[in-house]
Amino acid sequence: MESLATLPPAVLAGIALLFGLLVGSFLNVVVHRLPIMMRAEWRAQCAEEMAQPAPELPEGRFDLVAPRSRCPGCNRPIRAIENVPVFSWLALRGRCAGCKQRISPRYPAVELLTGLMFAATAWLLPWPWTALAGIGLTGTLIALTFIDIDEQLLPDSITLPLLWAGLLFNLFAGEHAFVAIEDALIGAVAGYLALWLVYQGFKLATGREGMGYGDFKLLAALGAWLGWQMLPLVILLSALVGAVVGIAMILLLGRDRQVPIPFGPYLAAAGWIAMIWGPALTGAWLSYAGAG
Ligand SMILES: [Zn+2]
Repeated sequence: MESLATLPPAVLAGIALLFGLLVGSFLNVVVHRLPIMMRAEWRAQCAEEMAQPAPELPEGRFDLVAPRSRCPGCNRPIRAIENVPVFSWLALRGRCAGCKQRISPRYPAVELLTGLMFAATAWLLPWPWTALAGIGLTGTLIALTFIDIDEQLLPDSITLPLLWAGLLFNLFAGEHAFVAIEDALIGAVAGYLALWLVYQGFKLATGREGMGYGDFKLLAALGAWLGWQMLPLVILLSALVGAVVGIAMILLLGRDRQVPIPFGPYLAAAGWIAMIWGPALTGAWLSYAGAG
């Protein structure tokens, strides 16, 4: 790790890019399988509550490691050579080598996105400890984003460990911490409360539920990582990005305004921007406000 510290930033970013491509490949598995695992567990719990026999679960082991990935079209196991991030998809021209069924471009897109965001994090945050922690946060935010897009939920099994990890990193990382532990602790509480209040207000005003409890926990986690000082920026940015994307979707796709759009991806994107550029953005705003 210490020898890595002396490498030029461009080399570090290149290593982080390759690492990110591999992690992105794993995140595709997490995004696909974790909701299936959660549903199986819920069904088993419901059956237990109702004193009914447990529902049939898939044969054999099913988790984030096993079984090997298979083509959903022909059930053919995917060989290692067909599983090289981005490159295999390009070499196979986006089709299964067995049955030629189309493979979603989202898989290589998630891999590339993860690689580029890891590279940017390694490049822009202080190496090694802050950048490595930031890479962990980045990967987790990407997984949450795509699970929320697919399922309209942010699993507790990701948001809560993310919150604890942020508090522990800021507690033990000393000078490498993102913020002081006091700011992290207040950030976690204030992050949860801020969205909870918005939710209750929205519910009182409209009788509808505008977001889910997972969103509160995600903002609590971002507060734990980045401190309460970043919360206004995260909320502002997520509302801004959400408005732009929402309007674009209505204009381009004619998407119905009533269809709920998950808020998690906007929080995650805003959180990532705040992690990288937050100090510069809030510093610029404070000096502007001070000058004005
Ligand atoms: Zn196939």
